[in-house]
Amino acid sequence: MGSPRVRDDLAQLEPYDPDMRAVDVMLSANENSFGLPEEVRAAVAAGLADAVARAHRYPEATSPRLRELLGAQWGVPARNVVVGNGGDELIFNLLLAYGGAGRSAVVCPPTFSAYALYAQLTATQVVEVPRTAAFDVDEGATLAAAEGAALVFVTSPNNPTGNLADPAFVRALARRTSGLVVVDEAYADFADPAASCVPLVAELPNVCVLKTLSKAYALAGARLGFVLAPDAVADALLAVRQPYSVSRFDQAAAEAVLLNRDALAPVVARLVEGRAHLTGRLEALCAQAAPGALRVYPSSANFVLVRIDPSGGLPTADEVHEALARDHSVLVRNFSHTPGLEGCLRVTVGTPQQNDLLVQALRSVLGLVPATC
Ligand code: PMP
Repeated sequence: MGSPRVRDDLAQLEPYDPDMRAVDVMLSANENSFGLPEEVRAAVAAGLADAVARAHRYPEATSPRLRELLGAQWGVPARNVVVGNGGDELIFNLLLAYGGAGRSAVVCPPTFSAYALYAQLTATQVVEVPRTAAFDVDEGATLAAAEGAALVFVTSPNNPTGNLADPAFVRALARRTSGLVVVDEAYADFADPAASCVPLVAELPNVCVLKTLSKAYALAGARLGFVLAPDAVADALLAVRQPYSVSRFDQAAAEAVLLNRDALAPVVARLVEGRAHLTGRLEALCAQAAPGALRVYPSSANFVLVRIDPSGGLPTADEVHEALARDHSVLVRNFSHTPGLEGCLRVTVGTPQQNDLLVQALRSVLGLVPATC
């Protein structure tokens, strides 16, 4: 008997390997580098202790308390909030509900790889509308492509480039298509609040906003994402979801963090300051390299993208990525093999100390000397 035959269209698929090597300075997964403040940890621990006492019972499938808390915070009724096992599961569920054979989803690469992966799993055709040289959405081409699509993914801020999408453009997009416009705001807590598309959810029947507690809320380990959606979209997502995908422990941790969210605001503010500081220091490195050999892109998220051009005498992005990890125990994400991101590394904003270590390590690996004054 041979091995059972996997679906032909998935036969070449490889397991996702995010490269989580153990290092001293972990700047590769866009997590909250500060972690949960002490008082929030205590609240999470108390919530988990209660959950342990009820561990033999299934979790509440409809997460009523959590959806109330999320709805109250983002100004939408609880019935318009759908939770999932991380934003990842919700992207899959969106494609399950609205994609499928004979349907298409528009994506704007370079962007988060999950949209194309889950499109493939659900046999949804992917229509790519590449971003401009500055990584902005090509608005005209996206509007045109959206017309016949079942879904359009707009990531704001975009991962891994940090660009925002204009809410006025998203409104125009939603008016142009009868498909569902999914605005992925996983990193919006680090951006100008005026750039959020949450107000469009109440205004338009085909806009939903995806968010997560994995980034600003420092809860990547618990897996809690959510979608703010108009009634019919929320109902469709509730119908296709696995009822118990958000465990009792995930729900308890998320509730504790949301009830104590005031303690996280200063942490987010420090990361936003850290982004400006890190960008400035990286720009100073760029000035030490040959003109154009090293670039740092502006970002509205908790990471920045750096591009290395080895023709200017610098090592390649692959070499820099490896040397940072091997010689300095600093892990960043290597995007240099992704189309449109040749030579690019993505650096998560760290604590001030981690940012210092990263800049020193990068300077040494790139062979740049500090400017003398
Ligand atoms: N959207 C974007 C743009 C992301 O970068 C991520 C995480 N890398 C997610 C959604 C999903 O995050 P999570 O599954 O941790 O909620």
